[in-house]
Amino acid sequence: PMYRADESRYDSMEYRRCGKSGVMLPMISLGLWHNFGHNADFKNARNILRQAFDFGITHFDLANNYGPPYGSAEETFGRIMEKDFRPYRDELIISTKAGWDMWPGPYGNHGSRKYLIASLDQSLKRMGLDYVDVFYHHRPDPGTPLEETMGALDQIVRQGKALYAGISQYNAEDTAKAYKILKEMGTPLFIHQPRYSMFDRWVEGGLLDVLGEKGIGSIAFSPLEQGILTDKYLKGIPEDSRIAKDGRYLKKDQVTDDVINKVRGLNDIALNRGQSLAQMAIAWLLKDPRITTVLVGVSKPEQLAENVEAVKNLHFSSEELEKIELILKN
Ligand code: NDP
Repeated sequence: PMYRADESRYDSMEYRRCGKSGVMLPMISLGLWHNFGHNADFKNARNILRQAFDFGITHFDLANNYGPPYGSAEETFGRIMEKDFRPYRDELIISTKAGWDMWPGPYGNHGSRKYLIASLDQSLKRMGLDYVDVFYHHRPDPGTPLEETMGALDQIVRQGKALYAGISQYNAEDTAKAYKILKEMGTPLFIHQPRYSMFDRWVEGGLLDVLGEKGIGSIAFSPLEQGILTDKYLKGIPEDSRIAKDGRYLKKDQVTDDVINKVRGLNDIALNRGQSLAQMAIAWLLKDPRITTVLVGVSKPEQLAENVEAVKNLHFSSEELEKIELILKN
């Protein structure tokens, strides 16, 4: 059946300005790392994306090698773009990245101009797009001069193949350097995509300060620790979970008794707030205004329905925050 976006799609989502840019991003964004490859069910993938847009999620995040196989999440997205979202292209912020291994040989990985330009051209073809809204260097590459990698991002923006430039997983110091190099070329650093969750707080050691000072937006990935920061693993490993279905990145041995004890404590706090743990884990990140948006993944539309409700309660009492700290520290 033909898709028509829900007319009330902008009524309940909230939007935050991305750094000092002109762009507002939804507080919840959707990532296509899992559940969109050729290994995934197309109908389900399509339902997730439709559901997302109907909830006012205007930002979809991809990368060249999301799948498996590599490239297939972009292909799936391209098919859904063609079937459902073509009339809505100007309502969407679509991102992709290059920086990890993508094709054989020395030019299909890392941070060279050669790799970034070729990879984005491939991504645009797979997605059937003339341009992406955001193009990222996916991870720092100490082997390539930062001037070359940032030069490639600047070139891409000038060519109109991406509207904005981003970086992912860069530390505070390299982020400040990247910002400066881009600024000198006349291209703002639009966004940083770090891993950030209650269980992984490396960004608090300086990166968030740099982002705040320079006016760079941020999008926190794996906010639910790939599903661990939800109530799903409290009673063992469900058959339809990421651990059971796809052990590539999230492994059974990560769900230790110690982790589950923490999750149980956090779950109790969430329930007292009238939230699910997933919702609290998202809200806890958004309490910091330097976090523009939280980048979730979902394997079912219902998970998204739960997660978007997080924006309804972003307030934490100091008592709640202390209790959370105590659990995380122990
Ligand atoms: P999350 O931490 O949000 O984990 C998502 C997984 O958690 C889902 O696939 C689902 O897994 C489970 N889940 C989500 N919501 C619920 C819920 N309400 N109840 C129970 N389980 C839930 O994020 P991801 O690790 O998927 O990463 C999100 C995005 O971040 C990626 O798609 C990608 O765009 C980006 N990313 C970027 C990286 C980078 O280097 N820049 C690296 C990694 C990710 P299940 O299958 O168990 O249902």
